[in-house]
Amino acid sequence: MMDKAGLEEFHWLLAIVQSIDVGIVVIDREYRVEVWNGFMENHSGRKPDEVTAHSLFELFPEIDESWFRHKVESVALLGIPAFTIWEQRPYLVRFKSYQPITGREEFMYQNTTLMPLKDSHGEVAHIAIIVYDVTKVAVNNRQLQEANGQLQQLSRTDRLTGLLNRGYWEECLGIEFVRYQRYRHKTSLVIFDIDHFKKINDGYGHQAGDAVIRAVAELTRSHARATDVAGRYGGEEFVVLLPDTELDGAFLFAERLRKAVQETVVPYGGQRIQFTISLGVALLENDCQRYEQLIERADAALYDSKESGRNRTSIHGKS
Ligand code: GH3
Ligand code: MG
Ligand code: MG
Repeated sequence: MMDKAGLEEFHWLLAIVQSIDVGIVVIDREYRVEVWNGFMENHSGRKPDEVTAHSLFELFPEIDESWFRHKVESVALLGIPAFTIWEQRPYLVRFKSYQPITGREEFMYQNTTLMPLKDSHGEVAHIAIIVYDVTKVAVNNRQLQEANGQLQQLSRTDRLTGLLNRGYWEECLGIEFVRYQRYRHKTSLVIFDIDHFKKINDGYGHQAGDAVIRAVAELTRSHARATDVAGRYGGEEFVVLLPDTELDGAFLFAERLRKAVQETVVPYGGQRIQFTISLGVALLENDCQRYEQLIERADAALYDSKESGRNRTSIHGKS
């Protein structure tokens, strides 16, 4: 029998459980609801008398029954709590999210604790499910991850063209070089430079020059394969690393790109700008000790193209 003080305490506890800002549900070993607090009522729209004695699985078909049973059974067996976290499962029961800052979230992210409740014989006859609303944390975390991803993307790409910037492109080349040393896959490099670019800048203005650089980047992107690694190496110099490509394949690519550039017209302020590029091609070979040597060889071939009249492709070692 409970004395008066004990009864009072019991009522206080009930009031606290009712009004606390976490969900509290008590189920029996048949998964039937026995306790359903105010949080659960507010978020589910179901009153205690609508849910009491009903199975949790019937009330919330979204619960993965076999997973949840497994979890609860081990709590009952071992007599120790278990937890679920939003990173693994966004929620246990699907509630709408009312967080004003997270207007775009459809549901409440939840962490939960499953607690064994022992009866007077020491048997776990009930389980308490405590539901925490962690939408704010989850959303902040996800936004942070998104922002980090965007930052990384920004730090790797060139602002004007969207191609890889020199630093990141060289990192990729370094990785490809290591792979080459191991597997000896044929790998080629194409490097190219816009012909008489200073004249474009001088004749049409720097903005027009930028538009030309962007057009070249666009053509490069559309001619390269998804596995090719294209970067802006300098002002108007570009590089494309072609994994699994021999010299003749790289030469074909270079020539296709060269012709496409030659046929391109960049409209700028009512004017039509035409231009050409010169290219150099080199193959990664056994005698390369450093990846920089591949760049040097392709660059030497590019120099040959410039020397011999521009708007052409030269292959390193074949001139
Ligand atoms: P060549 O045929 O020998 O390559 O002649 P070129 O005039 O193109 O000579 P070079 O490649 O040395 O020219 C580079 C010029 O590109 C110099 C620089 O002012 C210009 N430049 C570099 N970066 C940019 C840029 O981002 N935008 C613009 N508009 N111009 C740039
Ligand atoms: Mg140049
Ligand atoms: Mg140039």
